[in-house]
Amino acid sequence: MPSQEMRQCSVTAPLGDDVFSEDPTVNELQRQTADMFRKEDALWLPSGTMANLCAIQAHCHERASEIIVGKESHLTLWEGGNLSTIAAVHPRQIMEDPFGKLDLEEVRNVWRSDNDDHFAKTSLVCIENSHNMMGGSVLDKKYIDELGKLASELSIKVHIDGARIFNASVSLNIPVGELCQSADSVSICFAKGLGAPMGSIIVGSKEFIRLARRARKRMGGGTRQVGVVAAMGKYALDNNIERLALDHQRAKYMAKTLYEAGFYQPQEGDDDYGVLVGYGYSKGGRLFRACTHLDVTEDEVRHVTETLLSVARS
Ligand SMILES: *Cc1c(COP(=O)(O)O)cnc(C)c1O
Repeated sequence: MPSQEMRQCSVTAPLGDDVFSEDPTVNELQRQTADMFRKEDALWLPSGTMANLCAIQAHCHERASEIIVGKESHLTLWEGGNLSTIAAVHPRQIMEDPFGKLDLEEVRNVWRSDNDDHFAKTSLVCIENSHNMMGGSVLDKKYIDELGKLASELSIKVHIDGARIFNASVSLNIPVGELCQSADSVSICFAKGLGAPMGSIIVGSKEFIRLARRARKRMGGGTRQVGVVAAMGKYALDNNIERLALDHQRAKYMAKTLYEAGFYQPQEGDDDYGVLVGYGYSKGGRLFRACTHLDVTEDEVRHVTETLLSVARS
């Protein structure tokens, strides 16, 4: 295996106390991200899990809130049950289709207002873009806009878990501001495809960010001279978005090669292979997940693909 080349970059970061919103580097990153997403404001957070958690607490500050969320979503599966144990919301889980979409009729059907004492009141619907467990599938603007329209009809909010929203945006060739226009909030990870060492951010209205900032402090996520880390997020935004197309090319090459070798048995209703090597984490233990990113070269992807093929043949 070729060894990875060390990626090096240097950034400078004037610092202040971010607990008092006085770190200029954090403020600059928040302004830049809010502008990119065409939202009023943004808030830096240490991790994607905390970003989602604070976003949900901000949307659901009313007690006995219910949120509609996908059964296979990161929120449901991989965030330690924090929706119920920390945010104290009731997660109403519905099954995504194989492409990560929540069925709009089902959202309408499970929605509940507070007109019955038996009910928790629905406050929020959450989607994930791109959708991790659904093979990295991408939700397009048309679907998000339709969901947004339904949500405003039902007087609920829309949150996008957009840990990899820039992958979706590059793949659809549409700016994030347009793609997420109908969402009230988006959480974004700098430390996934964008390649920064750490950090996440949420965007939304001024009032949403004010409430999320309070939640962040309660969670112990208020940090001080954190511009040193925010500067890396800013570097990622400035340098690492367009190149995501390379990761997609490599993932598609791997998926296509394995698919054509019989790795993936298509199910009724499937579209094309795309990057969908498999979906659903159960699948009788047959699923494996591969993820390309900026530290994985084309040669390495080829090497892994060929190794898998030769193991499968033997
Ligand atoms: C990684 C990820 C998160 C959580 O991010 P952490 O920084 O690992 O806490 C949330 N949602 C999705 C879809 C993710 O892929």
